[in-house]
Amino acid sequence: MVPIADPPLCSSSLSSLQTLGSDGVRITMESALTARDRVGVQDFVLLENHTSEAAFIENLRKRFKENLIYTYIGSVLVSVNPYKDLEIYTKNHMERYRGINFYEVSPHIYAVSDNSYRSMRTERRDQCILISGESGAGKTEASKKILQYYAVTCPASDQVETVKDRLLQSNPVLEAFGNAKTLRNDNSSRFGKYMDIQFDFKGAPVGGHILNYLLEKSRVVHQNHGERNFHIFYQLIEGGEEDLLRRLGLERNPQQYQYLVKVGHSRVSLYELWCFGFNRVLSVWVSQGNCPKVSSINDRSDWKVVRKALSVIGFSEDEVEELLNIIASVLHLGNIQYGGEDSGNAYITTDTQIKYLARLKSPLNLEQASSARDALSKAVYGRTFTWLVNKINVSLAYKNASVIGLLDIYGFEVFQHNSFEQFCINYCNEKLQQLFIELTLKSEQDEYEAEGITWEPVQYFNNKIICDLVEEKFKGIISILDEECLRPGDASDITFLEKLENTVGGHAHLTTHKLTDGKTRKVMGREEFRLLHYAGEVNYNVNGFLDKNNDLLFRNLKEVMCMSDNKILTQCFDRAELKDSRRPETAATQFKTSLAKLMEILMSKEPSYVRCIKPNDAKQAGRFDEVLIRHQVKYLGLMENLRVRRAGFAYRRHYETFLQRYKSLCPETWPSWQGKLADGVSTLVKHLGYKPEEYKLGRSKIFIRFPKTLFATEDALET
Ligand code: ATP
Ligand code: MG
Repeated sequence: MVPIADPPLCSSSLSSLQTLGSDGVRITMESALTARDRVGVQDFVLLENHTSEAAFIENLRKRFKENLIYTYIGSVLVSVNPYKDLEIYTKNHMERYRGINFYEVSPHIYAVSDNSYRSMRTERRDQCILISGESGAGKTEASKKILQYYAVTCPASDQVETVKDRLLQSNPVLEAFGNAKTLRNDNSSRFGKYMDIQFDFKGAPVGGHILNYLLEKSRVVHQNHGERNFHIFYQLIEGGEEDLLRRLGLERNPQQYQYLVKVGHSRVSLYELWCFGFNRVLSVWVSQGNCPKVSSINDRSDWKVVRKALSVIGFSEDEVEELLNIIASVLHLGNIQYGGEDSGNAYITTDTQIKYLARLKSPLNLEQASSARDALSKAVYGRTFTWLVNKINVSLAYKNASVIGLLDIYGFEVFQHNSFEQFCINYCNEKLQQLFIELTLKSEQDEYEAEGITWEPVQYFNNKIICDLVEEKFKGIISILDEECLRPGDASDITFLEKLENTVGGHAHLTTHKLTDGKTRKVMGREEFRLLHYAGEVNYNVNGFLDKNNDLLFRNLKEVMCMSDNKILTQCFDRAELKDSRRPETAATQFKTSLAKLMEILMSKEPSYVRCIKPNDAKQAGRFDEVLIRHQVKYLGLMENLRVRRAGFAYRRHYETFLQRYKSLCPETWPSWQGKLADGVSTLVKHLGYKPEEYKLGRSKIFIRFPKTLFATEDALET
């Protein structure tokens, strides 16, 4: 599928009256101007009606129709998932974006990749590319495209080849263990990922480092209707060699394993009900209670890819066997069934051969025993995942490098039923929004300052107030939750809610059933609290908050794990942990700490942004669902982003570039200007009739407030 050519963005950066379309064909300015009506503008700042959300979405629609999935808001790249393969990721395309100025060719993920790379090389400043968007919007695909771009276009050597391979191969491994089929995405990342790509002084990729965030461990023991467990379980069962399966005591049938067939209530959003119709959603519930097979996934061939990737990364055969042993053990654990004794205590009814499982026969009732078993499975899987990431890091380790970081992390989530996980995810998005505000506004301000330009600060909503509400010491929501988790006695999810009401009840961004007036009460449950996020309101049900935050594992189970023969497990469950009498940090506090570190890392780098949009919920090509898209434009804060960008100066160009391009429009600057560049530009724009409010002259650049000014100048060139 070849998209049609994108017309030139605007003249300021074009070096001639012709430009290169996205398919590589040179198109003339005239045809480009007509095309502008047809395919929209390639930078939203050029929209005449830039405050109109309708105009914004119409521009996206026009472009999407022509397979132009990328559009800029200044330097931010907006990407719409095409749900089909477009021929825009070839080596030729990579070459085309190499060393080219941002605006000279159609917007592309390669332009962002190249721009970051060049800034890192020329300005010697570490970079980061922040990719956001909701599940299925294309974040992971975007991060893979960036990595491929560097793998292909950066200088290489033999040693570098190995690192490149390892960098690329870390993806299938992490996806096997950290991704799963969900209702929203057949390959949904169930963890957040930040990856540093490290480059040496020649600009060759020489190493990497990965940080992982909040793996959705609950998926190990429970999945919603129509969803699956992590891919690796099915890959092993479908693809594992007979011998291997025999050694692991596994059968080649996912249906044999409780953790692969056990299903719970689906979190179907109101939106999905509306979108798919009740019957379809119902049929998904009924017919796909468990879904070991997915048409878009080939577990058997993926298994081969993962096995190969593990060896490229440097896993020994023994390590792979130990790793798979853990995966198999989790499946066996899930199959332990309990019966009840007269005393009320649970006993194991299944005769599983794994010795340590017998230890689970402690005096617990049926429910407690099952949840202890599940807690163990989650802990084992979660820690093994972290071990895996560390192992990859060891194989990618390099010191003293320049860095480009890639952040592929969950977008803002709002479902019909939102729990602790959504609370953490949305808190993470608040932090990222805070960073965005600080960095974009700050960098704009810095540039104006450096150029000696005075400007009116833009009014924007600073979400720091929400970040504080969540994370502040002593009176933030996390602190209150931790306090309840530590409190002996009658602490429960409901007492947590009550404490919230008593402590932060008056906060402008928090509401509960009890605190609201009659009108809102209708849409709020008694067990919910509502946060007014920067992106909108979300109701969180407090059920399970304490348990999930405590994330406790019985001490005797930890002891058993420490005694295991499996070398990976002994690394995951350290004896030192048993000696430590302090209570382990809660899940929310750990997350808060790791987010704070992430913010520090990102703050130290120059950011670029990729905002991904999912065009429909049916994973279908060519379908542009306006309601869904409007929703995301709002949650991604794109209109605000555009407003900020437009409030300053839409365009800035070095005097030299500007003069070079437009000097023919003024007799005094043509054929060349002999004096100071700034004077030449000043003479030129006065001759063109620019009004004082339309532009400012800085130390080295001209700043133009409105795109139309530039369009008019470009049109003058035409005639
Ligand atoms: P999650 O938050 O669930 O991990 P995500 O934003 O990472 O979601 P991806 O896994 O990147 O979403 O994309 C979902 C699917 O959409 C991909 O498996 C692929 O089929 C399709 N897709 C995404 N981006 C592109 C693209 N640029 N070209 C073609 N298909 C794409
Ligand atoms: Mg993903």
